[in-house]
Amino acid sequence: MNKRKFFLLPICLLLLGACNLNQPQSKASEKASEPEVSEPEASSIEEQTSSECEHQFGDWTITMIPTCTEKGEETRVCSKCGASEKRDVNPLDHKWDEGVVTTIPTVEAKGVKTFTCERCQATKTEDIDKATGIRVTFAQGDHYKVYIYKTKAYTTETPVEGYSCYARDENGNAVDFDANAALQPQVSFKVVCDEGYSVGLNNIKITGAAYKNLKQGPTVGDDGGPDLPDANHFRITKIQGDINVAITPINGEQTFPEVKFVTNHCSVVVYKSATISDENIIAEGPFYARNKDNGETVMSGGQIYFKVVPETGYVWNNGVTAESVDVNTLPFIYQKSENSGNKFKTADGVYNITKVNDDLSILINCIPEGGEADLGYVVTFVTEHCHVLVYQTQDYEFTPTAPVDNKTLTRTSKGDAAKYVAADSAAGIAEVKPQVNFLIVCDDGYTVAAANISISGTKGTEWNKCEQGDKDNNPNIWKITKIKADLTVTITAVAAA
Ligand SMILES: [Zn+2]
Ligand SMILES: [Zn+2]
Repeated sequence: MNKRKFFLLPICLLLLGACNLNQPQSKASEKASEPEVSEPEASSIEEQTSSECEHQFGDWTITMIPTCTEKGEETRVCSKCGASEKRDVNPLDHKWDEGVVTTIPTVEAKGVKTFTCERCQATKTEDIDKATGIRVTFAQGDHYKVYIYKTKAYTTETPVEGYSCYARDENGNAVDFDANAALQPQVSFKVVCDEGYSVGLNNIKITGAAYKNLKQGPTVGDDGGPDLPDANHFRITKIQGDINVAITPINGEQTFPEVKFVTNHCSVVVYKSATISDENIIAEGPFYARNKDNGETVMSGGQIYFKVVPETGYVWNNGVTAESVDVNTLPFIYQKSENSGNKFKTADGVYNITKVNDDLSILINCIPEGGEADLGYVVTFVTEHCHVLVYQTQDYEFTPTAPVDNKTLTRTSKGDAAKYVAADSAAGIAEVKPQVNFLIVCDDGYTVAAANISISGTKGTEWNKCEQGDKDNNPNIWKITKIKADLTVTITAVAAA
């Protein structure tokens, strides 16, 4: 290794056309490769003209480029008589790349990593230790049995009854998780319940390492064929380490994820699948998440396609021509439950929510044509010796709006919509709890405590709580929750003790 280290630098420079490397080259050669490089002036140097000339040699230049394995040659020429000397240049040695995994290690067999020379494309391999494997352990309980499949091809494999197994790749090999490799350790299983019992996604709790998704059949695969054939079949995907799976069957039937629309001055047309035609309209609800291709109701990964039809004189102020919309900017609520839905697309006025794994409520608020959107309750801050910055949402991830003093604040975007939902609480979206989240900035020498904040309206009816601190316990951040009326919040900062 030393040899290569000392020798490579000068050679590289020579290859780049650098000239004056006589000294470094000799030095490096002496140290690095005495047997292979002739000393200048040594007997092996070929002299081609008279010995009377006091040669004045120029720089050594490469006259035969060395390869990874073969020697090269360099030459210098006397500027007076044209005599030349030659000497060997060491082979370069291979320049190995970082290597790629050409055989994935499994629990049963070692893997192989293949390195390629960046110069000559020669290859060499190294073994990779066997995978230690990812353990998936199912809790044993009443009213069900678990059958584990080796691959996700449920229909062709014989299930193995058991409560502990390895996560496996597409080919059924027990592997480790590797973020860089295209491994997708998964476990495919079937749950068979006693008569009268059933298991849904909500009845399965996974603890331990991270994973991508828990799916329940029926679903349809990428190729259009059955992926998870029926509601007894499940898959946990992209498992990153050991996990435990607890199953608690319920006594009764599971229902498909339902998508509920709450509308204001409009109606909604729902399509059975991605085919947007009058024949494909579902006449009336309840609406369930469906497979986008064949329109069948599915337990997980379902979709819903819909179009909004405003009443005469009303519009849905949402930019329906956009290729995609940010739900946070719309007077539109798309309530996600924990494992429900992402992507929210639109094309030709038809909206599409994908990956619906759980019940979903959607509120659509149409407004009078040419009118202002009624975005909810107005919270007015009246402040003394302080001012207030209002956050857009309760996650505090946005930059607060510009400082305002004694001004009416209308919460924007998501917050507005959330407030509106409260106004519409008769429609039964109980999960929505509109609130205002704000930062109190006191003048120098002043401070605010709960006693210094007074809120109009009836506590418990028009608003619920005024709380200090956010998730990071910042005492200057406050929130007023469950707002159900326009409010005036008067904050009088007092001189600090
Ligand atoms: Zn000469
Ligand atoms: Zn090479």
